Amino acid sequence: MESKRDIYTGIIESTTFHYQAFAAERDELLQLLQKEVATNEALRQKLEEEDESNQCIAELQKAEISALAKKVFELENKLEQIKDENSCCICLEPWQADSDHRRISLYCGHLFGECCIREVLSNAEACPVCHQQADSNQLHYIYGPENIIS
Ligand SMILES: [Zn+2]
Ligand SMILES: [Zn+2]
Repeated sequence: MESKRDIYTGIIESTTFHYQAFAAERDELLQLLQKEVATNEALRQKLEEEDESNQCIAELQKAEISALAKKVFELENKLEQIKDENSCCICLEPWQADSDHRRISLYCGHLFGECCIREVLSNAEACPVCHQQADSNQLHYIYGPENIIS
């Protein structure tokens, strides 16, 4: 037969047991939760890193593209300059060897296509660029490599 004391002890023991079981379950849950949090954090960091590396690649490509665009722009300018330097400033066309638009220099040194400068000099005896007096009897043919632009 159980005494009252035994009953209390039993209740306390069983409460303690339940509490310990509860505490153990809680600890287990807590560990699971911490694991979950850690996994989430790792995932988040990984996503962040991937995003950053994607952004890095995008930045690199952007830089490469703008460097290329700059190069193309410079080349186009250079081509334009070469074309200007190899063109008659009267008609803006390149001069041609073996034609009536051969390269010709006036006494002042300025260069023109032959037919263009002859026409100008028939109206005014001056260089159309520097306005120095020019004579159609003082034309010099300039011989050189073929035009690189035609
Ligand atoms: Zn010309
Ligand atoms: Zn001139």
